[in-house]
Amino acid sequence: MKEEASNKSRRNFLKSFGVTVGAAGVVSSFSLLSAAKAAAKEPGETVNLLTADGQLVQVDKNQLRPTVNEPLDELQQRGREGIAGKSFVMVIDLSKCRNARKCMSACQNHHQLRADQHHINVLQMQDADHTAPYFMPKPCQHCDNPPCTKVCPVDATFKRQDGIVLIDNERCIGCRFCIAACPYSARIFQWTEPKDAEKYKDLTYNIEANVPQKKGTVSKCLFSADRLREDKLPSCVSACPNGVYYFGDRNEDAVTNGTSGETVRFSKLIEENAGYTLMEELGTKPRVYYLPPKNRAFEFNGDLLNEENLH
Ligand code: SF4
Ligand code: SF4
Repeated sequence: MKEEASNKSRRNFLKSFGVTVGAAGVVSSFSLLSAAKAAAKEPGETVNLLTADGQLVQVDKNQLRPTVNEPLDELQQRGREGIAGKSFVMVIDLSKCRNARKCMSACQNHHQLRADQHHINVLQMQDADHTAPYFMPKPCQHCDNPPCTKVCPVDATFKRQDGIVLIDNERCIGCRFCIAACPYSARIFQWTEPKDAEKYKDLTYNIEANVPQKKGTVSKCLFSADRLREDKLPSCVSACPNGVYYFGDRNEDAVTNGTSGETVRFSKLIEENAGYTLMEELGTKPRVYYLPPKNRAFEFNGDLLNEENLH
């Protein structure tokens, strides 16, 4: 009886910190950040927490402090508005991609996706019989003229002032019109209960991370909109070990490489390297730019899937 009471109060304690307990706790990136910033007093009991990017961490209870478990309507409103003054863009340097697929796993951890579900996928490409093959990461292109948003009958998917295209799964009715409308095959449908549904079930839905994921709705790349609020680069950009991704703000004409941390002029990078966007002829105006796979940054022996080329 005593033990049951103590378990109950432990659950209540963790809930007041915005933490849900399963095999391990689940903590949003917001609350972990708060935890990191909190000043440690005396060491005490530790708790296991699963961060939003899939890391299991042990945290001293004294380092936790209550996070504002923001009400759904505030998260929805903030998610719709986007970040004022920003115009986000991504640049993907195909000459550096060697199929490490760290971007894919970081994204899957961040957005509660199974290994067979992709917001970003690394494709093997070959443009003609006698040209060299290459790897091409493909996220949502966050089009400035997006066909996907125009067909949604319930205004569940929309474009924000900062250029990011999101989906509100509190509104999505799962009709899949947007999947048919997207020429880049960037959207996926949740046919089954999402991964770790039990662990995430008590978290308030965060439209900027699309977590918790919901069965019967649509999902896609969000440019890690929740991380951008914390001045962090998207998960995929930070996870790449090979310098493939640049991300930044077109208004400031600056993009930062996720591997080296180097910030460069966006316009110069595109101009000097013959940057392009996918299927420009469709008029979708993508915000993801590609640099051609010329002058590879690694030895290439002609066999794309040779073990030496993959890491
Ligand atoms: S890539 Fe597809 S899902 Fe993404 S904004 Fe463009 S049309 Fe919409
Ligand atoms: S599946 Fe959801 S987001 Fe897509 S068009 Fe239908 S309601 Fe809109």
